[in-house]
Amino acid sequence: MAKSRFEYVKSFEQNDSCLPNCWLVVRIDGKGFHRFSEVHHFVKPNDDRALQLMSRAAQCVMEEFKDIILCYGQSDEYSFVFKKNTQLYCRRASKLMTNVVSLFASSFVFIWPQYFSSQELQYPPAFDARIVCYPSDQNLKDYFSWRQADCHINNLYNTCFWKLVQEKGLTPAQSQEKLKGTLSSDKNEILFTEFNINYNNLPEIYRKGTILIRQKKGNTESQTPSCTTSSYYCQQNKKTRPRISMLHVDIIGNSFWNEHPELLE
Ligand code: ATP
Ligand code: ATP
Ligand code: MG
Ligand code: MG
Ligand code: MG
Ligand code: MG
Ligand code: MG
Repeated sequence: MAKSRFEYVKSFEQNDSCLPNCWLVVRIDGKGFHRFSEVHHFVKPNDDRALQLMSRAAQCVMEEFKDIILCYGQSDEYSFVFKKNTQLYCRRASKLMTNVVSLFASSFVFIWPQYFSSQELQYPPAFDARIVCYPSDQNLKDYFSWRQADCHINNLYNTCFWKLVQEKGLTPAQSQEKLKGTLSSDKNEILFTEFNINYNNLPEIYRKGTILIRQKKGNTESQTPSCTTSSYYCQQNKKTRPRISMLHVDIIGNSFWNEHPELLE
């Protein structure tokens, strides 16, 4: 196409390509999901439908972008790691980030009815995104440790908070006041003595979040459930759908990384 005299405006665009040879991590997070979860009557503290929907939307992103090697999700957030040497979109930060977050958001809306069959979507949800380059394997591992520790801290707090509200009849303000300044050990103690709950026996998906990794060839165990609808989208993807495993395990210690050495290769 012939160049117009307006073409010069293109030169105002900034080069935002990410550093070479670094892990690229995109994290998306629901905008105002405190409110979104109330409007859509999420079960508190953990709505299983919402957690499954988030993971299914993340799986759609992973199916589309083959250079994503690992995803980690909890609450209203998901992180996606692109392999170190990805050349997708010439590593342009804005291209990577916006493609991930927009596909995530549209998938979330597209498959909403599969998970919330009796709860209509009340308004279009939005997600923010950021991209960060991590130069070393240790930085990447620490990134996931950070997110999983966050999952644990929030879940312990939220579990206590909602037990006090739902079973002891405290108002949210009273519950918050009661938990102010408490340590993890105090919260474990409240759960145990007041509600006979051993925190460590709660489902791992709540305590550890969700990890998605690609299955090694020939391995068919613990595969995520394949699509149950007969929609065009699913039909189209059935044959080529890569096998993805869903795990709810510790990612802070070394065992996860030792069991999956191919991830850091
Ligand atoms: P921001 O726009 O700054 O991200 P936010 O309201 O989304 O604001 P977050 O810190 O991201 O705040 O917290 C997400 C909130 O969404 C949680 O506090 C929780 O109330 C709610 N939430 C997310 N997922 C679930 C779930 N599966 N079950 C119940 N509540 C959830
Ligand atoms: P990229 O992912 O790089 O953006 P692309 O295929 O989206 O690749 P674009 O340069 O964005 O390429 O061009 C968008 C294309 O979408 C157009 O070339 C045209 O073929 C098609 N298209 C978009 N809007 C319409 C429309 N309203 N009617 C017909 N075709 C359209
Ligand atoms: Mg926030
Ligand atoms: Mg949020
Ligand atoms: Mg969040
Ligand atoms: Mg275009
Ligand atoms: Mg286009």
